[in-house]
Amino acid sequence: MDVFEGIKFKNSFAKLSNEFYTKQKWSSFEKPHLIAFNENLAADLGFNPGLEPEELLKVFNGDISCENSDSLAMVYAGHQFGNWVPKLGDGRGILFGQIETPEGLRDLHIKGAGKTPYSRFADGRAVLRSTIREYLCGEAMHCLGIPSSRSLLILGSNEPVFRETTETGAMLVRTAKTHIRFGHFEYLKHNNKKEYITELLDHVLDEYFPDLVEKKDKYEIFFDLTVRSTAEMIANWQAVGFAHGVMNTDNMSLLGETFDFGPFGFMESYNPDFICNHSDNSGRYAFNNQPAIGLWNCQALAAALDEIIEEDKLVKSLKNYQNYFYSFLTDLYRNKLGLEEKRESDIKLIESLLSYLQDSKTDYTNFFRNLHKVHETKNNLFQDEKGKAWLEKFLERFKEEKISKEISQEKMLTNNPKFILRNYLAHQAIKKAESGDFSEVELLANILNNPFDEQPKYEGYSEPSPEWGKSLEISCSS
Ligand code: AMP
Ligand code: MG
Repeated sequence: MDVFEGIKFKNSFAKLSNEFYTKQKWSSFEKPHLIAFNENLAADLGFNPGLEPEELLKVFNGDISCENSDSLAMVYAGHQFGNWVPKLGDGRGILFGQIETPEGLRDLHIKGAGKTPYSRFADGRAVLRSTIREYLCGEAMHCLGIPSSRSLLILGSNEPVFRETTETGAMLVRTAKTHIRFGHFEYLKHNNKKEYITELLDHVLDEYFPDLVEKKDKYEIFFDLTVRSTAEMIANWQAVGFAHGVMNTDNMSLLGETFDFGPFGFMESYNPDFICNHSDNSGRYAFNNQPAIGLWNCQALAAALDEIIEEDKLVKSLKNYQNYFYSFLTDLYRNKLGLEEKRESDIKLIESLLSYLQDSKTDYTNFFRNLHKVHETKNNLFQDEKGKAWLEKFLERFKEEKISKEISQEKMLTNNPKFILRNYLAHQAIKKAESGDFSEVELLANILNNPFDEQPKYEGYSEPSPEWGKSLEISCSS
C-alpha cells in the first residue's frame, strides 16, 4: 500500500538553488517502534483513514523509500541568546518533503534524524523526552487556537543518546507551514549572499502570499505582515501564559507559527518574571520579555533585508509592532473577560487584574476558567480588598456592554481553557513512556485536544502542580 496515496508532494523548497540546503537521506534506527501517532493531524494532511501508523513508521525511519520525497537539510544562521552565530542549519533535522493540503503547503520534517553538514560537534539525535514534549505542546497550542507546528508521529528506538545521562533516541515527524526562519535571511545577508535573498523572498511570496506577487511594494508589505504575525503570535502566548524558552532568531518561523519550542513552559501561578528555561541565566526569555524579544527579532530580520527594502519602510513596520501587539493582546483579554465593547481604559482594567493575580499568586489558567462566576451574586473569586476593588471596577465596566451576562459567560468559557500542558503532566507522561508505557502520552494528547471542554472524568488534569512538580527543571538539553 502506498501510504502517500492521495497526497500531493510539491517540494518547492528543494527546487531552490543549492545554496539553501544539502540534499541527503537520514539515519534510520535499527529497531524503531511507535511511540505516538496523531490521527487528527493525519486526517488534516489527507492521509487515508485506514492507514496503519506502522506503515508510516517504516517510511519515516527510511526503511521504505518514498520516491516523492526530496529530502534535505536546510542551512541558516541566527542570534542565539543575543549572540550572532554565522552558520547554523538543520543539525538534526531533515525536510522530508513538502505537501499540498487544502489549507496550503505543509512541510514534513523529521527531527532527530542524524548528522548533517550542520551538526557541528553534536550527534544529530533527539532524546525521547524532548520529542514527547514537542509532540504534546504542538497539539496543546494548535487546539488552543494558537498557530503552531504540530507532530504526526514519534518513532522510538533503543539507540543510546548521551546527554547528562544516557537516554534513548527518538525521531519526531513534524509539520509546519514553513521551516524558513528569520535566521535564513540573516545567513544570506551576513555571509554576503545577497543575490539569494530575493530568490528566497520570491519563493515565500509565491507559496504563502500569492496575492502580493504582482504588487509593486510586495517585499515591504510582506515584511509588515511578518511583523504583524509575530506580534499576534506573541500576544497569543501572553494571553494563555505560554513561555517559549528559546526565542533565538533561528527558532522564529517566518509565518508566525510557534516553533522549535524546547524548554517551553505554561505558567501556573501568575508570575511575569517566569523563566521556563533553566539554562536562561539572565532571563532574556522570561515571560514578560517575550513581547520585546519579538520586536528585537523583527529588527534582526529587518537588518537582513535592508538592501532589499528601504530603511524608512522597515522602520515604519517595526514601529507598528507595538500597536499590533497591544491591539491583539487587548482583544484576547477582552474575550477572556467576556467583554465585547472596546474601551481605551480596558488596558488599565487588565493591568490591574494581572497585578492582583501576581500578588495573590493565583493559578492563572484556573482563575480565568472560573471567572464566569463573576456574574453570580455569591461568588468567592476574590478574597482580599485589592481583588474586591477590581471586581467592582469590572462590574461597573460591564454595564457598558450590550450583551447579556449569559452570553458574556459563554464567551469566557470558550476563551479560557480548562486544560493546558502543565509541566508536571508532561513529566508524568514522559516517565511512563521511558519505562515503555506510551498510554499517558496518548491520553494527555486527547485531553489537550479539547482544552475548552469540561471533561469531568479528567478533572485532575486541570489541577495546579503538586509540590514535587514545581521544582522540575527544564533546560536546553534535548
Ligand atoms: P535548538 O536549540 O534545538 O533550536 O538548536 C540550535 C541549533 O543546534 C540548530 O542548528 C540545531 O540543528 C542544532 N542542534 C541542536 N541539537 C543538536 C544535536 N543533538 N545534533 C546536531 N545539531 C543539533
Ligand atoms: Mg532550533
